[in-house]
Amino acid sequence: MTGKIHSIQSLGTVDGPGVRTVVFTQGCPLRCGCCHNPDTWDPDAGETVEAEEVFARIRRFRPYFGPQGGVTLSGGEPLLQPEFAAALFSLCRVEGIHTALDTSGCLWNGKIEFLLSLTSLVLLDIKQTTEEAYRACAGCSMEAPLRFLRELEARRIPVWIRQVIVPGLTDTAENLERLCSLLAPFRCVQKVELLPFHKVCAVKYEKLGIPFPFDCYPAADPAETAKMQQKLEAALAQARKEL
Ligand code: SF4
Repeated sequence: MTGKIHSIQSLGTVDGPGVRTVVFTQGCPLRCGCCHNPDTWDPDAGETVEAEEVFARIRRFRPYFGPQGGVTLSGGEPLLQPEFAAALFSLCRVEGIHTALDTSGCLWNGKIEFLLSLTSLVLLDIKQTTEEAYRACAGCSMEAPLRFLRELEARRIPVWIRQVIVPGLTDTAENLERLCSLLAPFRCVQKVELLPFHKVCAVKYEKLGIPFPFDCYPAADPAETAKMQQKLEAALAQARKEL
């Protein structure tokens, strides 16, 4: 099974538990304003590879994975290539390698359902917490990732939720409250990660000759984002007790 990839990060520590090899797929149907990988958008760009070939590359790094690490399929949007993703995860599963899927959750079909049966953990972006803001940020309905989350809950697949904190957009108390109420009922959500918006990707936009939609927003202070993360964790624990 062939697929289109943008690149492979041999050893990463920020996309799932432990030390992981991160495979960035090529192609994404969304155009998020805060996207730091615009070079993964074009489905016709990138490298065409066999799942077996990618797996052979991953295997070389296996000694570094330790008990928690493994493989993360990111992008771009890996759900655009569910058969390739499933072929790769299937090879990983045979060798007992942990598989994480980093996705916007914007697509759903039978092939994606099969892919989930081979997925150990999902890293799911909830980009905004109102329909209007979600549409403005990503260009699709918030119902798509919420439906995806409900499917993960039904299958009891562990989930880490991620949201980028953009000053002036998602750094408000109201947004955090909404995120908390939205996530509290989902038992599959093991962790919520707030990620500070940064602008190092501006050079990529410049190189591609396309405008960086969120260039008008300042970068987030990582220390402030960490404080928000603590508040959210406390509020989420409380909300779950009250359910
Ligand atoms: S889903 Fe991810 S890769 Fe696609 S535009 Fe949004 S942030 Fe970028």
